[in-house]
Order: sequence, then structure tokens, then C-alpha cells
Amino acid sequence: MTSTRQHGDDWDLASSVGATATMAAMARAIATRTDRRLVDDPFAAPLVRAVGIDLLTRLATGELPSGELVDRTAIDGAKVRTLFYDEFFLEATGAGVTQVVILASGLDSRAYRLPWPAGTVVYEVDQPRVVEFKTRTLAELGAEPTADRRVVAVDLRDDWVAALRSAGFDPARPTAWSAEGLLGYLPPEAQDRLLDTVTALSAPGSRVATESRPNSRPGAENQTKERLNGISELWREHGFDTDMAKLRYFGERNEAAPYLTGLGWTLTAAGTGELLAAHGLPPLEDDDLRMGDLRYVSGTK
Ligand code: SAM
Repeated sequence: MTSTRQHGDDWDLASSVGATATMAAMARAIATRTDRRLVDDPFAAPLVRAVGIDLLTRLATGELPSGELVDRTAIDGAKVRTLFYDEFFLEATGAGVTQVVILASGLDSRAYRLPWPAGTVVYEVDQPRVVEFKTRTLAELGAEPTADRRVVAVDLRDDWVAALRSAGFDPARPTAWSAEGLLGYLPPEAQDRLLDTVTALSAPGSRVATESRPNSRPGAENQTKERLNGISELWREHGFDTDMAKLRYFGERNEAAPYLTGLGWTLTAAGTGELLAAHGLPPLEDDDLRMGDLRYVSGTK
């Protein structure tokens, strides 16, 4: 059973917060298998298989139909999220940014699948066991990075700047930063510190992309927890012992978009509903997970 989050806790891709990276890759694997016109991540399914959580492997490969185990909105949500960040990076590098930092890279394979312009350096930052696993597994699969990929194995609640700089990061050059699927797994003050640090390290012309969620309306947080408990229970019945409501930090926090604006970033935002419509996908139905509240924000400094 998953224990509650603690200061300094750590994980691999089969445990605690690490498993959420495997879940995200599973959703990309399902999206790739069922809707390749939108998402084509050929590394998602092999990475999930390598992690070895049987239920997630069977869902990723299609051996087990997603059905009620992974609802349609979760898969469509993964599609628009993947496309949002892919487009963000392609636009940034197309405009001449050659330094990219993917915060909380998990099993994201962008460093191996996007057509990065020559000379692009991509830093992938995540917990040590996460980045080491991905590097090793993709090498065993014969995959080659499509950029100069550098891994930074560090906890993002700690001082991660020294580790990033010793991997070669140059704060004098404009950077494209992403924090995808990360902020809710950080305590509120660590989120603020992370956004402050990103800003301090951003030369003029830098770009940032993340998700921003307003604080819950009264009662909505319990609804989300109940939904997460429902999914966890269903998955436990299928042999995967997780407790998703315990992995996130609930409660009040600064909303990322206004916080970044206050730090001097000029942002644009799109809601999940808008992105679904823009890609010809059906609207959200039941939304206990409050995906409709989520705004995908990106901008420049
Ligand atoms: N961005 C990836 C994606 O969208 O597929 C992974 C998202 S997954 C939901 C959350 C990721 O955040 C995990 O890979 C986890 O290891 C990472 N993460 C969360 N808290 C972290 C921390 N304190 N330090 C380093 N990585 C962290």
C-alpha cells in the first residue's frame, strides 16, 4: 500500500510518484495504439513493459482493453497534453532556442522522438532511479537520442541548480523549460521555489510550459480524492497496488499561471476543453478529476 508523501521520499518507476510516470506512459501507449494520427510515441509501450507492473503493461500493449480501467477522458487528456508540449518544444527550437530542460521527465521520450534541430541540448531532470532506468532501457532497446541528451538525476525539492549546471546548462542562453505533470506532486512551497528558480535561470528569450490549476471549489477536492480512490481500488482488484490520492499534495497553493506572470513571464493559456476541440476530440463528460479546470500555459520571458 502506498504511504503518505514525506519530505525526501524517493522512488523508482514502479513505486510511489514514480508509478505515475509509468501511468502517463501507459496512456501515451494506448493513445499511440488507438490514435496514431495524433500521438506517436513508439517508446511508450516498451518502456511500460520494462517497468514490469503487469496491469499497466497489459493495458499499454492492448492485451487488456482499457474499458473502465482507463477511461476515455484520461486517454484523450494524454493526447492533448502530449501534443501541447510537443508543439511547445518544436516552436521554441524552431525559433532558435537550443537549450531545453524537461523537468520531471519520467518516461517521456521526447529526447528520442522529436526532430530537434542540430545542436539542441536536452536536459532531462528527474529522480535518480527514474532517469537511470530510462537511459538504460532505451539503450537496450537500441533507441538513440535525437538531440544531445543529458540526464540530471536529482530531487526537484532540493537544490537542483548545481546538478543542472554541472551537466553543462548555461543560464546565459535562452532555455525552453517544461514541467509536465509535475506541480501537483510537489509541496506548495517547493512549486513556488521551482518556478522562482526556473525564472532566475532564464535568459531573455526563454520559454516555459506547464499546467496551471486553480484551487478547488469547496467539496471538489473530496470528489477528486474519491475518484482517485475508485480508480486505485479497481486497479488493486487487477493486481496493481497503488493509492493515487496519497501521491498528490492537496490543499491551497499558488496557481502556477498567475505566479509566473508575477515573475515577469508573458503567458498564453488553453483549457483542456479547448485543446480537445482543437484536435477534433469529444468534450469531457464526467469530470471528477477536474481536467476541465486545467489550463495549459506557455510563454516567454
Ligand atoms: N513528465 C512526465 C510525463 O508527463 O510523462 C512524467 C510525469 S509523472 C506524472 C510525474 C513525474 O514527476 C515523475 O517522473 C516523478 O519522478 C517526477 N517528480 C515528482 N516529484 C519529483 C521530485 N521531487 N524530484 C524529481 N522528480 C519528481
